[in-house]
Amino acid sequence: MKKIILVSHCILNTASKVVMYNLKEIEEEEALRKQFVKTALDRGIQLLQLPCPEFTLYGSKRWGHVSEQFDNVFFKKHCRNILLPIIEQLVEYKENKERFQILGIVGIDGSPSCGVDYTCTGEKSYGALGDRDESIMEVIHNTSLCKRKGIFFQVLEEMLVEFKLADIKVEGLFALEPHKCMNLLS
Ligand code: SF4
Repeated sequence: MKKIILVSHCILNTASKVVMYNLKEIEEEEALRKQFVKTALDRGIQLLQLPCPEFTLYGSKRWGHVSEQFDNVFFKKHCRNILLPIIEQLVEYKENKERFQILGIVGIDGSPSCGVDYTCTGEKSYGALGDRDESIMEVIHNTSLCKRKGIFFQVLEEMLVEFKLADIKVEGLFALEPHKCMNLLS
């Protein structure tokens, strides 16, 4: 029996991520990412990589965003398009239960796209900076975490229901709650 876990793209390829400046946050996430990937490999679990919705739409020079900026029909359409080939693979694995077991899907908590329990929000974080009084640091400090899925994972959740895959567990990789992703590997 092959055990399979789906992971957000940057769990296997951090080159897709936006440049981050909070060193403590980066180090904590990186430590958990390595522990998660190493444990999965040690246990012989197969890792199926989701596409990165932001890299494939905005490329490597994009800035950090908040989820409100991706909450539009165009971004969601892009998410749907890139998710469909993955959903079809899941359908095939699920239909062959005697050979495959899907352990779950792991996103990145805090991401505007791949957040599972938390995404970043900030109504003041978009619009033309030049027309406003705030400094860029004030705008950045106006972003916060809220308890909601990121937009890519909202679309994923809708598609899991649509393709009768809603029983697949979805958890976030989050340094403050490491048990969530690690428990999927047991
Ligand atoms: S959009 Fe998702 S996969 Fe891409 S860098 Fe952000 S968290 Fe990682």
